[in-house]
Amino acid sequence: MALIVQKYGGTSVGTTERIKNVARRVAKWHARGDQIVVVVSAMAGETNRLIGLAKEVQAHPDSRELDQMVSTGEQVSIGLLAMALMDLGHKARSYTGSQVRILTDNAYTKARILGIDENRIRRDLDEGYIVVVAGFQGVDECGNITTLGRGGSDTTGVALAAALKADECQIYTDVDGVYTTDPRIVPEARRLKTITFEEMLEMASLGSKVLQIRSVEFAGKYKVKLRVLSSFEEEGEGTLITFEEDTDMEQAIISGIAFNRDEAKLTVQGVPDRPGIAYQILGPIADANIDVDMIVQNVGHDGMTDLSFTVHRNDFQKAMGILKNQVAPHIGARDVTGDANIAKVSVVGVGMRSHVGIASQTFRTLAEEGINIQMISTSEIKISVVVEDKYMELAVRVLHKAFELDQAA
Ligand code: ADP
Ligand code: ASP
Ligand code: MG
Repeated sequence: MALIVQKYGGTSVGTTERIKNVARRVAKWHARGDQIVVVVSAMAGETNRLIGLAKEVQAHPDSRELDQMVSTGEQVSIGLLAMALMDLGHKARSYTGSQVRILTDNAYTKARILGIDENRIRRDLDEGYIVVVAGFQGVDECGNITTLGRGGSDTTGVALAAALKADECQIYTDVDGVYTTDPRIVPEARRLKTITFEEMLEMASLGSKVLQIRSVEFAGKYKVKLRVLSSFEEEGEGTLITFEEDTDMEQAIISGIAFNRDEAKLTVQGVPDRPGIAYQILGPIADANIDVDMIVQNVGHDGMTDLSFTVHRNDFQKAMGILKNQVAPHIGARDVTGDANIAKVSVVGVGMRSHVGIASQTFRTLAEEGINIQMISTSEIKISVVVEDKYMELAVRVLHKAFELDQAA
C-alpha cells in the first residue's frame, strides 16, 4: 500500500463535470488500496475573479483581507470534490489549510510554510478516508489565514507529501508533463521524461509556471518523488523530477527554454564611475525590500558610466521613485530611465557544465534574427538574456530550434 499525494490545478477542477472526473481518477487509485491525499486549486479563473473583486473595493487591497477572501476559492473546490467522492461511494473528508494546520509565517500573499500537523490526516487515512486539502493556503500562529503566492497549490502538495513521507507527489495539470518550453508558445516542444531538480528549479525561477518554484525547493530539500502528469489523459508517465545522479549519461546538454515577462528595467545614466557607486544605487533598492535580478554596468568613459538593473514589474514604480527622488540627486546622476517592455529568455541545462559554446550559440542565434540583447546573465547551468518583449516569442522559438529541442532525444 502506497501513500500518494495528488494535486489537481485550476483547469482540472474548472467545472463540476471536471471535479467529478477528478473524483473518478482519485477513486481508481484508492480502489487499488493506496492511501490518497488530494490537494486542489480553486476552479479555473476563480482566484483572478476574487482578486478583481477586491480591487473593485480597494485599489490596493489590504493584504490580510485579500488572503482572507482569496483563499475561499480553494474552499469551494475541496467541498465539491469530497462530495463527488462520496457520490462514488468513498469515504472522503475535506480540510482547509488552517483546519489541517498548515502553519505559515505571516507574510500575507506570499507566506512560507513553517510546519504541517499531519496527525489528523493520518488518522483519517488509517480509517479509510480520502483526504482532500485546500491548496495555496495556511494559517499563521495567530490564526490569520495566509496564502502562498500564485501557483501555491503545488507547494501545498509537495509540502504535504514531505510531511507525510508520501511515496510520490503527483501534480496533475493541463499538460502531460514538463516540456522543453511552454507548448502554448512552441507547439513543437517535447515532453521531457525526466528533468533534474536543479534544472527544474532554474526553469521555475526563470518563468516556467508549470510548477511553483517553492514546490521544487521543497521537493529538493525533502527528497520528495515529484511527477507532473495530465489530469485529462488516462495513461502516461508524465515527467519525473530526478536527482542528477539518478539519470543516465544520455542527458541532453540543454533541457529547456524558459521565459518571463514579469520584469522591468531601470537605468541610471551618467553616474560618476567610482568605488561604492553600485552600493549607493542598489542599497536603497534593497532597503525597500525590492529584489534585483540582472545588473549591467557599462564600461565608463570620461569618469562616467551607466548602470541598469531589472526588478519585478510590480516593484517598477516604487524603484523608479527611489532612484529619481533619493538616489539620483544624491550621487549626481544625469538621468533615470525605465523600460517595462522587456522580457527575459533563458536557456537551461546541466550539460552546460561540460560543454562550451552554448553562450555563443545563443547569441549567434538571436543575432541572426536581428534580436538585440539588452542584458546577459549566466550561471553554471543557464544563460539568460533580456530582449524587447515583442521579440520574446520569436527568441524562444529560434533558440528552441537552434538547440534541437524539437528533435527526439
Ligand atoms: P495548474 O492550474 O494545473 O496549476 P498552470 O497553468 O499553473 O496549471 O501550469 C500549467 C501550464 O504551464 C501549462 O498549461 C503551460 O502552458 C505552462 N508551462 C510553462 N512552461 C512549461 C513547460 N516548460 N512545460 C509544461 N508547461 C509549461
Ligand atoms: N488558485 C491559486 C492561483 O490561482 C493557487 C494555485 O492555483 O496553485 O494562483
Ligand atoms: Mg499552477
